[in-house]
Formats: sequence, structure tokens, C-alpha cells
Amino acid sequence: MKTGHDVAIIEVGPRDGLQNVTAFVETAQKVSLIRRLAASGLKEIQAGAFVSPRSIPQFRDMNEVIAGIIALPKVRFSVLVPNLQGAREAVKSGIEKLIFFFSLSESHNLNNVHQTKEASLKGLEVIRRNFSTETPIELCVALATVFGCPFEGYMTTDHILKDIHKIANMGVKEISLCDTVGFANPRLVEEITAACLKDFPEVTFAVHFHNTRGLGLANALRAYDVGIRRFDAAVGGLGGCPFAPGASGNIATEDLVFMFNEMGIPTGIDLDSLLNVSGYLKEILPGVILSSAVYQAGLPQAQISGPKCGAPGGNPPFPTHRDW
Ligand code: ZN
Repeated sequence: MKTGHDVAIIEVGPRDGLQNVTAFVETAQKVSLIRRLAASGLKEIQAGAFVSPRSIPQFRDMNEVIAGIIALPKVRFSVLVPNLQGAREAVKSGIEKLIFFFSLSESHNLNNVHQTKEASLKGLEVIRRNFSTETPIELCVALATVFGCPFEGYMTTDHILKDIHKIANMGVKEISLCDTVGFANPRLVEEITAACLKDFPEVTFAVHFHNTRGLGLANALRAYDVGIRRFDAAVGGLGGCPFAPGASGNIATEDLVFMFNEMGIPTGIDLDSLLNVSGYLKEILPGVILSSAVYQAGLPQAQISGPKCGAPGGNPPFPTHRDW
């Protein structure tokens, strides 16, 4: 891989997680959450979305949130944008990575962003034209419902490849394949990711799995085996699409890091610090049950005193994140 770490984990909790929380999270708390995530070693964080405050009021303070984090060194921040207006606001805030999102399925796109897929593709082209000369701006695509749609069911691989072809033809170099409603299974993941990697060697693919039916980690592992090295995850397993019936949380970042750590695959993320962030999440979102299995169970005793997480000079203290 290009980076020193074998896998890149992209934290999407501040975006995919908070967009589903109705109660407004104070700006200072959002900033603190993101800063703590960065301190645990996460190198790329989706900070939120520049969308209409009427559709997602949680993100009405995006400019202030970005101002509170943008100077953090060694972290790449990105935001979701649905259109040129959102992209312009995002760039004005100092963000250098834009993620344009739309759905592979027509009906989910109409429900989610209230326009046809053709209109979304045109919107992507407009954004690309506007920002292609501004070199620091990176434009990526998050493609929803790749592994199934709540309205249309499963997508054929041909359909998926045709749409990716249109996106790649615009010069987009990074595409996130999203299992928006948790329909994926390891075999389907293998088929789709292998076809994408084979047909588009010039594109970097990420995967975005929701753990709706408990297959999130199995899907991530299958994608890893096929060759995917970028994974979205949300601290505490927060998340879900407010416009997709049945959608629930993302893969928990803690669980994904734990899996890769245990397999000897470096992530660059300190799990103890990350579990402290989960504890902070409980403070700012009282009543929310975190679905991370590792957060719920704590780390195994062997790992607490063993060499894997033992800092030189002594054993780390027993994690204090548990609610005893
Ligand atoms: Zn999602």
C-alpha cells in the first residue's frame, strides 16, 4: 500500500452517525469528538455534510465545526456534498476533500436526494468542472445501495459496473461502495469488489458496510481478502440512513480495529484511546446504546496485560470505558 499501514479506516461517525441523531449535538461537543478521534490515530475523518439545514438540522453548524478542526495536523477531513452549492460552501470552509453522494438505485436516489440519477450525474460533472482546476480539492463519490436497495432489491453487477464507468469517466479517482441498508453478504461482496478492482484499476475503492443484519465484519474481511484496503466505520457503531427504512448502524470502528489488530494487520489506531472516545460518545449522547461489541465487552484480559497492547514499561490500566 501507499501508506505505511496495511489498511486505512475512515471514521464516518461524525457524519453518518450524527446525521441520524435527532437531538442537536453542541458544536463544541462535535469538535471535541472529532479531535479525540484524530488523537486515537484516525487519519481520515468525515466531519459532516454541507446539506440543507432543513433536511438535516444536525449539520447547521458545519462552518463552526470545520473551523474547530481544520488546523489539526496529519488528518484528512472530508464532508459529504449533494450539489454545487454544498461543494462551494465546503471549499469555503477550508475542506479539501469533497464526497459527492448519490444512489445506484433510482428510487433510493429520489427518496434520498430528491432527484433522478441522471440529475445527480450531471451535478457531479458540474462540481468536477468547477473544482478541477483547484488542485488541492479532491472529489470522491459515495455510491449508495450498491449491495441492495430497500425499494428495488439487489443490483446486478453489470448495472453497478456501468454506473461506475460513468463516474470513472469523469476522472473521479476514489469511489466508496456503500451497503446503505445492510443487504450485503460476503459472497456478494466478493463478486462486486472483485469486478470493480478488475475493471477499474485506476480507481481506489473503499467499502462502507452497515451491520444491520450482523454481517458487517464478515463483509469487511471478505473485501479485504479480495484486495480492498479502505474501510468506512463509525465509532460506537452509530449510523444509519434516515431516509432508508430498516437501515441501522455502521460497522463499529472499535470492532473493525480490533479484528485487524488481532489478525496482525496494522491500522495505526490506538484501540485504548478509541475506546475512551466511545466513553465520551456516551456522555454526549445519553441514552444511546452503542452497538460496538468490543466497547460492550471490553478488551480481553490477555490483551490488556499481553504484549500486543502493553506499552513499554508496564501494563496499561484496565479500560475505564465500561459502565459497571
Ligand atoms: Zn452509511
